[in-house]
Formats: sequence, structure tokens, C-alpha cells
Amino acid sequence: MPIDGVSRDALSGEVIERQSPGHRGKVVGVWPAGGAADADLAIRAARKAFDTGHWPRMTAAERSTILHAVAANILRHVEELALIECLETGKPINQARGEIGYCADLWTYAAGQSRGLEGDSHNAIGENRLGLVLREPAGVVGIITPWNFPFIIVSERVPWALGAGCTVVVKPSEFTSGTTVRLAELALEAGMPPGVFNVITGTGAAAGQVLAEDPRVDVLAFTGSVRVGTHLAAIAAAGIKRVGLELGGKGPQIVFADADLEAAADGIAYGVYHNAGQCCISGSRLIVANAIRPALLERLLDLSRRLPFGDPLGEASRFGAMVSDQHIEKVAGYVATGLREGAELLLGGDMVDAKSGNFFAPTVFDGVRPDMTIAQEEIFGPVLATIGFDTREEAVALANGTPFGLSASVWSRDLETAIQTTRQLRAGRCWINSVIDGTPELPIGGYKKSGVGRELGRYGFDEYSQFKGLHMTLGRGQPWFQH
Ligand code: NAD
Repeated sequence: MPIDGVSRDALSGEVIERQSPGHRGKVVGVWPAGGAADADLAIRAARKAFDTGHWPRMTAAERSTILHAVAANILRHVEELALIECLETGKPINQARGEIGYCADLWTYAAGQSRGLEGDSHNAIGENRLGLVLREPAGVVGIITPWNFPFIIVSERVPWALGAGCTVVVKPSEFTSGTTVRLAELALEAGMPPGVFNVITGTGAAAGQVLAEDPRVDVLAFTGSVRVGTHLAAIAAAGIKRVGLELGGKGPQIVFADADLEAAADGIAYGVYHNAGQCCISGSRLIVANAIRPALLERLLDLSRRLPFGDPLGEASRFGAMVSDQHIEKVAGYVATGLREGAELLLGGDMVDAKSGNFFAPTVFDGVRPDMTIAQEEIFGPVLATIGFDTREEAVALANGTPFGLSASVWSRDLETAIQTTRQLRAGRCWINSVIDGTPELPIGGYKKSGVGRELGRYGFDEYSQFKGLHMTLGRGQPWFQH
């Protein structure tokens, strides 16, 4: 664990082994099983680097230069990072390479924007008064990340927090710690001062919860499940700690009758099968105009049967393994519930090639009612729930009819239909004629139970900034009590 610039084992000496989900029985990572005492060291290091260190006091230009150097170092290590990410998560190697390249761009964008962080001035609040808004770094940020996109999610948070002048302690998922540990090492090599970017590995309860509890941590940025996010937000509330939460989703894909059906079928397959369906922004509900429902489903089933599926190390694989046996059981449980509640299974529904790894077949349900469990809950697997509609109002009501609001897609050739529909969607990240698209410029985040706060773009820096109002009196002010 990189803590205060030094690579450390857990004080207990214990480790967590990670087996490849795509290669049964093969150990691909051994990481320290950190606990509260290790977290204490990491928080202490981040606190010292913030309270007395150089990082928050540097010029923005100096910080930006180091963030750019981290981006360049990521690009020099794409192959190594992609291999770790592929083996620990089970995602295809090609996909992992693309993700690492995207992360270098996230660092580059944040490096550039961090030089433009400004406050404000108020010059019209009275002749002898001047008001300034000073933007300051918020302090020590605790960042907890999940296993599905370990390198993307840490890169969506850390460069924004560091760019704002904060120091960080990151707790990656115990399943996928490898690339986060390497990232902190690459940052040190790139000139990041010790103590600015610390990592503690280990389970959530043992190594992560302390980041919510400890008053020395000023901000908690959590990405993961609603269950754990709710628990941590309650702890943080007791200490009046600022929290950012990026939680689950149940993304609708609304397809109107005038949509380009080839493009929509391809996008729906990508939206639900990408990363084996383990995306917070999966398009896991197909809300389709009844007039084109049979034609679209026929195309989708054809694509689903032909997906390049298998060994995550295979260059041609598009669809790899799922994270764990336990998670596969959860997904299979949802399929069983869907059948029990009366949905019609058109394809898949079970594991394939279970001897070699955690592979689950592309799965499509039709005849889903909006109140069914598979239409309401996040499955986090390659399982699509299809619901038909006749009017735009109906489509919007269906799309908004879950507790989540993370992402949504609209497919139509008519821009008026697409934009007017999107305006009515209660989701933080919307696409017209695409899905799971992203760029560092645009904010991400949830409505409703999908979260609190925004990451990326200019907005991402505000999560890690404090704003101080400064009133200045020029010359003699108005006396309060005239003698
Ligand atoms: P999870 O909530 O089980 O775990 C997330 C992280 O929290 C892990 O690092 C885990 O170790 C830690 N954790 C668990 N219990 C903890 C505790 N008591 N105290 C502190 N930390 C604790 O989620 P997961 O299974 O790793 O990831 C899947 C979930 O993440 C899905 O719900 C998915 O939608 C969500 N997710 C959201 C986004 C987003 O940007 N909105 C992105 C990716 C994943």
C-alpha cells in the first residue's frame, strides 16, 4: 500500500488473494489486508501533507505540471495496467486498454482545468466595500471505489481532488486493488509529493469505513452500491462530513418507432452487455415502441447470439467474465425471480463454460411489467428487461418509474422527440442515439437514489473546494455607535 510515499504491508501482515474470474483457480493478485491501524497511518500522512505540506500551497501551474506528468506516465504503462485490470476484473483485454487510455485523458483534462479554478469578485456591494469569493481546497478526501471500473473510477475522482489542492486516501475494492496501487506509484514517480496520494487496500468494513468515521477526513467520495452508500452517508452525517455518492442505476433505453433500428439494436446490446452488464450506467431496461418491438427484438437476439464471448485475454473477446461466484448467484437469482413473476425469457438465463470461469450468457426478457423485480432493481449483469409503450408520455413515465436516476438513452431520428423526451428524464447522464458514452468535459452523477454530487467537467472541482466569502472595507466603514 503506498502510504506517505512508501510501499507498506498491512501492520497485521495479513493479505487478500485475488483469483482471476476468467481463469478459474489462478491467483493474479496478492494485496495487504489493511485495517483501522493502516488507515490511521494513511489519514495521518494525508493530513500532514495537507496541513503543512507543499501541495495545497503550490501554484496551480506547479500542480498542473505534475498532474500532466501522471497522465504521461499512465500512457507509458498502458499494457501493464490493462493486463492487471483484465485479470482482476475479468473484462476483455482490448476493453481494458481502451479504458486506461481514456483515464490518461481524464488526468490530462483535470490537469488543464485545474489552472483555471477561480473564485469571484463583487464590485457593486457599496462604494467602500469589495467582496471576494476565495476558492480553497476542501482538505483530506477519502475515496472508496468499486470493482467494475477500478481505474476509470479512481481517475474520475483523484485528479479532480488533487487539482483542487486536496490530498487523498483511496480505498479500492478488495477484488481489484492492483491498478489503484500502481496508479499511486506512477504518481510518485511523476513527482507527486509523498503523502498526497495514499492507498489503503483491504475490505470495506475493515479498511474503508474509517474514512467515513474519522473527523480528520473532510470529504468522503463513495462509488458503489446504494446499500453501502446509505450506511456510509449516515455515519458521515453524524460527523457533518461532506459526502459525494455515485450509486446504482437501472438505465432505460427508450426506442421510438422512427429510430434507426440497426444502430439501436447495436446500442442496446452494448448498453446491456458491456462489461458483462456490470456497469452502473447499463441500459438494462429496453422501453420500446410496440410498433417496432418484434423487429427490434429480432435484431437484438441475432446480435446477442453472435457476441464474441470468452477468455478475457483473447484479443477478439468483447464480453468477458463476471466478478465472482457470489455475484453470478445473485444474477441467476434475478433471472429466477423474473420467471416466477411471469416474464418471458427469450435468450440465455444461465452460466456458460462454467468450468473455465464466471461466464454468464447474454439474457433477454420480454413481457416485463414495470412493477416486476427485474424492472425495478439493479441486477448488475447481462440481463435485459423489455417493456412496450404506445405514447411518449407512457415512455417517460416508464423511464422515470424506478428509484434510480443515473443514466438514460433515447433513440429517435426526430430531434424534437429526442430532446423533448430527454428534458423530462430524471437522470444525470443522458444520451441521444448512443449509450455509455463519456468525455471528461461533461458532468456525471445521479438523481434520486443514484447519488449526490457531480463529478467531471468544471463541476467536479466544486466537490473538493471550499468557498470563502471575504468582505473588505475600503477606508473607514460606517461606525456602529457614533460617540
Ligand atoms: P459495494 O458497495 O459493495 O462496494 C464498493 C466499495 O465499498 C468497495 O471498495 C467496498 O470494499 C467498500 N465497502 C463495502 N462495505 C463498506 C463499509 N462498510 N465501509 C466502507 N467501505 C465499504 O459495491 P460494488 O459491489 O463494489 O460495486 C457495484 C455497485 O457500484 C453497483 O451498485 C454499481 O451501480 C455501483 N457503481 C456506481 C457507479 C457510479 O458512478 N454511479 C460506478 C460504478 C459502480
